Amino acid sequence: MDTGPIRNVVIVGGGTAGWMSAALLAKALGSSARIRLVESEEIGTVGVGEASIPQLRHFNAFIGLDEDAFLRATEGTIKLGIEFIDWFKRGHSYMHAFGPVGRTLGTTPFHHYWLDARRRGAADEDFWAWSANALAARTGRFGRAPSGGDEPLTWAFHFDAVLYARHLRAHAEARGVERLEGRVVEIDQDPDSGFVRAVVLKDGRRVQGELFIDCSGFRGLLIEEALKTGYEDWRGWLPMDSAWAVPSRDAAAPVPYTRAWAREAGWQWRIPLQHRTGNGHVFSSAWTDKDTARQVLMDNLEGEALAEPRLLTFVTGRRKQAWNRNVVALGLASGFMEPLESTSIHLVQSGLARLLALFPDTGFDPALTAEFNRQTAEEYANIRDFIVLHYKATEREDTPFWASRKAMEIPDSLAARMALFAGPGRIFSREEDLFKEGSWVQVLLGQGVVPAASHPMTATVADAQADGWLSNLAHIAARTAGSLPTHADFLAALGSSPNAR
Ligand code: FAD
Repeated sequence: MDTGPIRNVVIVGGGTAGWMSAALLAKALGSSARIRLVESEEIGTVGVGEASIPQLRHFNAFIGLDEDAFLRATEGTIKLGIEFIDWFKRGHSYMHAFGPVGRTLGTTPFHHYWLDARRRGAADEDFWAWSANALAARTGRFGRAPSGGDEPLTWAFHFDAVLYARHLRAHAEARGVERLEGRVVEIDQDPDSGFVRAVVLKDGRRVQGELFIDCSGFRGLLIEEALKTGYEDWRGWLPMDSAWAVPSRDAAAPVPYTRAWAREAGWQWRIPLQHRTGNGHVFSSAWTDKDTARQVLMDNLEGEALAEPRLLTFVTGRRKQAWNRNVVALGLASGFMEPLESTSIHLVQSGLARLLALFPDTGFDPALTAEFNRQTAEEYANIRDFIVLHYKATEREDTPFWASRKAMEIPDSLAARMALFAGPGRIFSREEDLFKEGSWVQVLLGQGVVPAASHPMTATVADAQADGWLSNLAHIAARTAGSLPTHADFLAALGSSPNAR
């Protein structure tokens, strides 16, 4: 449909998704469009979402946020990866560290040389001895520039989601975004096309636009309540549908990584911020009850709880079309997967990048919409597979929940990847894959999927040469991590936060 050029963009919702959209569109569209954001303090935001992945650094840099200022404003800390405890089996843990583990030699990925040397008894059993990120995480170190010219680490952040939205709001408003406080009570649609013409607020104000960004949270005010887009339900693979969340007092200096413990019918996160620790217990109500789940969380806090725990419920899956007519849904309005790999906020970022690449400046060409939805569907499915892998590849059968996860049927796309790795050790990332080979290898190995063979190309390198190379790379990783200041020193050097403590 030809609506003419986009002169008015209306964002519904002022959570992380809404304010990320506002800040990015203000930067990208400049003065070519008026951007208005409607939010309702009375309804509020979901208020969780504290762990990110490294791509967020690019988002912040693109919109012009200074990293130190961002860390101060959001009480942020550094995240170098996620430690998964008791997932493969009780008493076992591994790190999904950001950044590379080892280096590719020629065209053969590092893990093949490691597998080969390990089989000969010539390599450390600990695959993460070749990850500077993992070594720095374990020893509580972080700095942006290692000494001696070594490669920098790869990092993301833990932050207070409410403070991030506030920081983004100030940034976006300073760049011309108009904020309207009010509750949307009606959606005005063209009776023929179904296109949204305006949202109507409780006090009667009509906010008109050509393009609407639905960031209204789980309910999907425009994409679902108005446009009836439909939802693909993935609870068969990922039956988690609830989470208790509670902040606690920091019991120790913040570590530069997230921790995720497998529990009887779910898992628990611990996310260290500067001013508090974020905790949550994600669980499946089909396998445990909410009171037990609450108790599990409270029994496993490190410091004293700072509030009453809050229960959040959700349906894992995705909106059948994230872009429908002139509405693009982002954030929780477009779908949700449990925060095991901290992907939700990234999905807002990638949705925005996609929207810019396919921007409907010459009208709502169905080809643009179809391509947006195809890419979104693939990205979601790939992340879903990656998350399902953490449950499927396990030795645990000690609770009915874990036994059911181990025995479950998995998507063919995941089964194919697991088989290709378990046999010849091959792994490839696919189009729209957020997690590349390095991430897949770490989680596959960490969850106990060890390939039966290494790549035959390793035989073209003499054992002594390969062993020397491996030992040199381990030395570089250890030297990189060892040269860095402590995370606590890094945070102290940031200066004090503008927020009252
Ligand atoms: P919300 O925060 O719910 O915001 C919705 C907005 O819409 C609000 O401003 C509300 O006022 C407004 N609104 C709704 N209805 C109306 C109306 N009628 N009129 C006017 N305004 C309206 N993500 C990560 O990346 N990392 C994590 O570690 C992580 N952890 C999570 C843990 C849990 C338990 C959950 C549930 C989510 C987690 N997420 C995480 C996801 C993350 O919180 C969200 O993706 C992110 O906060 C974006 O939320 P949102 O802005 O889409 O929705």
